[in-house]
Amino acid sequence: MSLLTVGSVAFDALETPFGKTDKIIGGSATYITLSASYFTKPNNLVAVVGDDFPQSMIDIFHEHGVDTQGLEIRNGEKTFFWSGKYHNDMNTRDTVEVQLNVMEHFDPVIPEAHRHSEFLMLGNTSPAIQKKVIERMAVRPKLIMLDTMNLWIDIALDDLREVLTMVDVITVNDEEARQLSGQYSLVKAAAAIQAMGPETVIIKKGEHGALLFHGPSIFFAPALPLEDVFDPTGAGDTFAGGFIGYLASTGDVSFNNMKRGLIYGSAMASFCVEKFGAERLFNLSTDEINERVAKFVKLSAFEIV
Ligand code: AMP
Repeated sequence: MSLLTVGSVAFDALETPFGKTDKIIGGSATYITLSASYFTKPNNLVAVVGDDFPQSMIDIFHEHGVDTQGLEIRNGEKTFFWSGKYHNDMNTRDTVEVQLNVMEHFDPVIPEAHRHSEFLMLGNTSPAIQKKVIERMAVRPKLIMLDTMNLWIDIALDDLREVLTMVDVITVNDEEARQLSGQYSLVKAAAAIQAMGPETVIIKKGEHGALLFHGPSIFFAPALPLEDVFDPTGAGDTFAGGFIGYLASTGDVSFNNMKRGLIYGSAMASFCVEKFGAERLFNLSTDEINERVAKFVKLSAFEIV
């Protein structure tokens, strides 16, 4: 089934304990669409970049079957820029610099052909933009999923609360879940966020896996213990792309299928962190993805005697 992703397409500069990059391609929608491309088609992208954005990256989107007719290129303007520095544990990071550039006046135009997409992924952008996108769909998608971050909880809480009443699934990390709900216990936090609108709350815990709360039911997916983690940037978006891409490929939004989606999303995130930026998502094979999913199954399978 069709998926539409709206979010940032960006230049990032990253620093982890393993090294530093200058401007590389990043952005929430970049990671989401590349990850989802391994599962579903049509895979539609709506975002904005400046005329400094390289055609070679647009070619990579096309090689992955991403429909970029909704990628607006603004002449004479610069692409959104974000830089971040990770702490030694790689689970926490500081934003060093943000240059909004084209994102400052982003008013998403959804091509006619995308307005009937059955699955909608609202990647990290301002809640006001996320709301506009929902309102601009021709029909209410079968499933709307939203990702957000601490910045929006800090500066746009009212807008965020409003858009939360319109979505089915939210993904946040544990810190954001606590900040949004005012609850320390993640079980209480999830219940408080469910009461704000979304029936399904996914709480990402970095290298400690992810929790899925669906109505009263709970499921947990571990993260794969990896020997080398170079750069966690985009892991959350890659996870979201794998999750919603898998759901869209099956058209099934039941709790049982969301459990599988959680594992596919976690498997995709485990690839993402192995290289800087989104590079590891450029050339994956279905066999590699299936092998990784099998490792997840093995990781926590056991028998009770
Ligand atoms: P993640 O590591 O999954 O949280 O996502 C990192 C990506 O989010 C980076 O590639 C950034 O370009 C992007 N990003 C960071 N801050 C923002 C923001 N305020 N709005 C949109 N995208 C952002």
